Amino acid sequence: MSETKEFISLNQECVFNTYGRLPIMLVEGKGSRVTDSNGKTYLDFIAGIAACPLGHGNIGLADAIYAQAKKLIHVSNLFHIEPQIELAKLLTDNSFADKVFFCNSGAEANEGAIKLARKYFHDRGEHARFHVITMENSFHGRTLATLAATGQTKYRQGFEPPVEGFSHVPFGDLGALRNAMNPGTAAVLVEPIQGEGGVRMPSEGYLEGVRAICDETGALLIFDEVQTGMGRTGKLFAYENFGMTPDVMTLAKGIAGGFPMGALLATNRVANSFSPGNHASTFGGNPLACSAGLFVFNKIISEGFLRHVLEMGAYLGSRLDELKSRYDIIKDIRGLGLIRGIDLSIPGADVVTSMRDMGVLINCTADTVLRFIPPLIVNRTEMDEMLSALDVALDRAGGSQT
Ligand SMILES: *Cc1c(COP(=O)(O)O)cnc(C)c1O
Repeated sequence: MSETKEFISLNQECVFNTYGRLPIMLVEGKGSRVTDSNGKTYLDFIAGIAACPLGHGNIGLADAIYAQAKKLIHVSNLFHIEPQIELAKLLTDNSFADKVFFCNSGAEANEGAIKLARKYFHDRGEHARFHVITMENSFHGRTLATLAATGQTKYRQGFEPPVEGFSHVPFGDLGALRNAMNPGTAAVLVEPIQGEGGVRMPSEGYLEGVRAICDETGALLIFDEVQTGMGRTGKLFAYENFGMTPDVMTLAKGIAGGFPMGALLATNRVANSFSPGNHASTFGGNPLACSAGLFVFNKIISEGFLRHVLEMGAYLGSRLDELKSRYDIIKDIRGLGLIRGIDLSIPGADVVTSMRDMGVLINCTADTVLRFIPPLIVNRTEMDEMLSALDVALDRAGGSQT
């Protein structure tokens, strides 16, 4: 214990104070469980913020990384990289996209998408067409452009002036989007399901409507699937749930099982606007990241994997609905597959803390929304264990049983 305390004070001394960190140091994990430096084990329903679809301590993934590390860790994109080509082939064979650009994070993938949209219209002589419309309550990253894209003023405060060329409309409001569209609109950027903003689902027909508006006006449709992609909703990509496809899509979080990686995908029509020298990343798609990505992708598309996600997701959804009928502090249950949220009428922080004391990690987003984003390999026993703790925590939080 004292050693952990020393590390925590050392962290305060020499690491930027940018995170509200828990007083916990995790040291190892297996499957859906992680263990802290005091030997306490937790059931992990955060999964590195939806970044560990295969959970922790996956030997196959570790072996894939080790085997590649022994051969080559990094060479730069001055050369052809076999695992990068293989992963791009898998991603394009299994999505609407024709081409992939690899980078290192979600924000970087969205930056690339925004640059691509601007370049696409620039190439067509439409030099004033660079504006991107995004949604209120959205989250697209922490770089200057993705902060401007993010539809939450709190993240921009103190970092003004925002990058030019972004505006926001309410998520779910097709009329507002239609009114905001103008000849300067290059793209509409939207999360199919808003994750960080509180696990908010698109209303019925909304994404199809956004697609239609983009088609009418010629604007590009960009889906930010950084959180919803890679099997999270029970489909490989969330857009598959809505019977339509975007022109551009961004991925990160789960794409390489927790190894840092992002990707920008597009149809040829759009992707062809990038030519040598237009966009680059030193580490993007390096051999190590792509070997991890290949292992993860092959698992996710393997027989039965997504069916398991759907089954676990449906089970979690129905058990959460059950809790809603018993606790009046639950206002809403939202989500799809294994991204689920409970919107409370009270701040969620105390529920999160009391679950942690019981050995279950969940997090709270948008102040009142408990978010459940477990590893996709989570099983029913683990689900039941989490739900029992949740039941107790909601009770303690004063959720009078109805
Ligand atoms: C997490 C997230 C991002 C940012 O990803 P980073 O890897 O932290 O830059 C962007 N968009 C969505 C939808 C996210 O959930």
